[in-house]
Amino acid sequence: MRETRSIDREWGLVGRVALVTGASRGIGQAIAIRLAAAGAAVAVHYGSDLAGARSTLAAIESAGGSGFLVGAELGVDGDVDTLVRGLDAGLNGGQLDILVNNAAVPPAGPIDVTTPEQFDHLFAVNVRAPYFLIRRLLSSLSDGGRIITISSVATRMANPSQTSFAMTKGAIETMSRTLANELGVRGITVNAVAPGATRTATNGSLFEAPGLAGFIAERTALNRLGEAEDVADIVGFLASDDARWITGQVLDASGGLYLGPRL
Ligand code: NAP
Repeated sequence: MRETRSIDREWGLVGRVALVTGASRGIGQAIAIRLAAAGAAVAVHYGSDLAGARSTLAAIESAGGSGFLVGAELGVDGDVDTLVRGLDAGLNGGQLDILVNNAAVPPAGPIDVTTPEQFDHLFAVNVRAPYFLIRRLLSSLSDGGRIITISSVATRMANPSQTSFAMTKGAIETMSRTLANELGVRGITVNAVAPGATRTATNGSLFEAPGLAGFIAERTALNRLGEAEDVADIVGFLASDDARWITGQVLDASGGLYLGPRL
């Protein structure tokens, strides 16, 4: 986790309440810290990593922010009920302003190795859970609110090792676009953010494979791997009032990964 910045109210999320799923580590953790740094109270969701979620909350609080923990395994029966029960307890009658669907399971491999069970689990966590979470929270999400779902450049990169994973991200991009059209009358914006290769404290070792980081950097316009904070800042912008006129979009958060050949 990068050193936290002190409260920066210029992004104007003071008085807002956000839920970030999968905030116990990685990109979700950076998003939770980023939204809190802009003044939002943050519900820090985790699946199994209570210690990680506690460290996220501790980072928020040590920078002067506030939040609470919500534990719920996604992709199992009753997942949304459990999550909403924990959220409601923390909200204590208050409303939610920003929902960030970040929790997801990673790629299960190419088509010839992905099992039906892995396929179902990918869709249960990456698609069904955010879809029904949004449905359950629609009545408590404030007008003018934000729904931001984390996608992936896998939807445009046609990487055979990620076919089923990319399908789940394609589904949530479609969901975001269609829900944007439905919820715009309430001033709610609905967008997706698509990271590229993003190094986090958890997956850093993946990118230590010989030559991999350089290979990716060479194919990235901005010439490096992404960091969790690169993505979190984009989410912070989308959550802010400055992004009020952006809806139904997929924002690429990859530094320009695979834009084309550099001649
Ligand atoms: P990560 O380090 O693997 O963290 C995943 C988070 O999701 C954890 O907080 C985990 O919580 C939660 N989670 C996973 N499965 C869950 C389940 N069944 N129930 C409840 N919570 C669950 O992931 P990341 O690399 O930060 O990625 C975050 C988002 O960015 C994901 O949507 C991912 O697809 C997307 N993305 C990442 C990259 C990248 O290079 N990192 C690239 C493109 C897109 P617990 O550990 O507490 O269970």
